[in-house]
This record gives sequence, C-alpha cells and structure tokens, in this order.
Amino acid sequence: MNIEAARKSGRMAVTIVFAGVLSLYILVMTTTTVHAQNCMHDEYEWVSVIKPTCSRFGKDIRLCQDCEEILETEIIPKLDHKCKWERTKEPTCTLPGVKSYICKNCSEVIETEEIPAKGHRFARAKTQSATCRSPKITERTCSVCGFSTSEQSGGRIEHRYKWKVTRAATCADCGIKTGTCTMCNVTKTESIPPTGKHKYGDWSVKSVKVKGKKLKVVQERSCKTCGRNTREASGTTASFSGKHDNGKYYYKHTKKTGRIVILCSECRQSVSGKISGGTIKFTRPKKNNSKVSSKGWRRVYIMCACFLDNMSYGLT
Ligand SMILES: [Zn+2]
Ligand SMILES: [Zn+2]
Ligand SMILES: [Zn+2]
Ligand SMILES: [Zn+2]
Ligand SMILES: [Zn+2]
Ligand SMILES: [Zn+2]
Repeated sequence: MNIEAARKSGRMAVTIVFAGVLSLYILVMTTTTVHAQNCMHDEYEWVSVIKPTCSRFGKDIRLCQDCEEILETEIIPKLDHKCKWERTKEPTCTLPGVKSYICKNCSEVIETEEIPAKGHRFARAKTQSATCRSPKITERTCSVCGFSTSEQSGGRIEHRYKWKVTRAATCADCGIKTGTCTMCNVTKTESIPPTGKHKYGDWSVKSVKVKGKKLKVVQERSCKTCGRNTREASGTTASFSGKHDNGKYYYKHTKKTGRIVILCSECRQSVSGKISGGTIKFTRPKKNNSKVSSKGWRRVYIMCACFLDNMSYGLT
C-alpha cells in the first residue's frame, strides 16, 4: 500500500509544477497585449481573410504586425463565372427542350434558351384498303413516342354480291335471288323477271260467228305451266256461194295444230283454215262430201247479231 501512495503523490507533484509554468506564460502574454495602446502600427501586411469566388465577395485586411490590430478592410469583387452551355432538358417530339448557360463553379444558371421540339418521326405507313364498310385508311406511327395518326381517303366501295337463286322464275312469275356480300355478309334480295317461255297446250275453238256468207273463227290456247297466258288466232273465211241456211254449218278441229275445216252440210262446200302468225288463213270454198255424222264433226252453234239483239230485247 505504501508503494502505491508514494506513486500517487509523485504524479501530483509533476502536475503542480506544470500548472505553475502555464500561469507564468499567461502573465507574460498579458503584458504584451497591454503594449498595443501605444503601437504606431508601422509594420503591417495585407492578409486575405476571404478568398473571392464567382458567388461571394472576398475580403482583405491590413493587419498590424506588432499589435495585430485590423487597420483597414477591403472588399474584393466577385470573380467571373465560368460558364458553358448544357442541355438541361431534352426536347421530345412535341415539347421543346431547354439549354442553359451554367457556371461550372457555382451552378448558377445565367441564361436559358429553348431547343425546338423535334417533331414525330413516322415510320412507313400502314394502309388498309377500302371496303364496303370503310374508306381507305392510312395509319402512321411515330417510331419514337408511339403517337399514331390515321387518315381516311376516298369513299367506301360497293358491296360485292354473290348471288344465289332462292326461288326460280317461271314463265309468268318472278323468281327471287339473294345476294350476300363477300366482304361484310350483308344480304339483299332482288327479283328475277319471268322467263316468258310459256308452254302452250292445245288449241280450242273459242267462237264461230256468221257474218253474211263468211264465218269469223277465233281459236285460243293457254300455257300449260302457268295456266294464264293465252294466245288467240282469228280469221275470216271467204264467202260461201249460193243460198245457205246458217244453221247447217259443222266443223272439224285438230287440237294440236289448230287446223279447222268448216263444212256446210247442205250445199257441201268446205273451207279449211291453218294458223300462221296469229291468224287463221282459210282456203277458198271447195266441194266436200264428208258425212257430218262421222267422228270428229261438231255443229256450229250460231250466235248471230240478230239473235243477240233479240236476247237483249228479251232481257229488257
Ligand atoms: Zn500596431
Ligand atoms: Zn459561378
Ligand atoms: Zn413522336
Ligand atoms: Zn359489303
Ligand atoms: Zn306460262
Ligand atoms: Zn251451204
């Protein structure tokens, strides 16, 4: 324990000696400062305390080398900026950019200028040809920003119909055809005109009228398919000679050709008629000994003008 105590006291002694030297030093320094009041400031020098930059004023002081009093202060002007142009914002297709005149030391922006927008850069156009639904479309896309424009030109084109017969036309009736557009599938119906190709059946005798010594014959036949369209052929015979009883006429008729033979059963004169181009052409009266009782002969029932007149009378 004694050894430890002795060491401690030794250390303390060293400390006390050091403190004494320090207080002596302070005493000397104080004595020197007091001396300033009588300094003539003969020895001085300029000292730069703040170096000027482009953003800050500098400061120099004149300092007395003896008493260290600041005798004069001078403000040093700022230095010039060291600038260069820099692109601070790149232009896009549609927006202008900016270039700035910037000091590389203090980063101050001295001046700005606009960089014009670059405009779109369109790649090759894509075209879609006109259809029955839309006109020709030309589409362009900017390869930089993806902006696209589409432009229409010309008009739509006509539908392209592919026709199919829905109902065939007959000799007398219209048919129907349906068209489907090969592009848009729109449909349209149209009528097909009748063929007009009637298939005529056999001739029949429509009327036989007596006009003095002549007979007017009218035949007709109609279409077997439509049953409607009828055709007529008429003709007047040459005069029968001599005196006649108008109630004694007979006729023989061939349905297929329309050939007709008219015979007066009393005086044995006959004419035969043949149809050609809508009229019946008759031969001149000639002798005919046919027996009207044989097959094929029919009686001509006369409806003469006077008879019709009588009928009219009867009716009133
Ligand atoms: Zn001084
Ligand atoms: Zn600067
Ligand atoms: Zn663009
Ligand atoms: Zn179409
Ligand atoms: Zn017909
Ligand atoms: Zn006769």
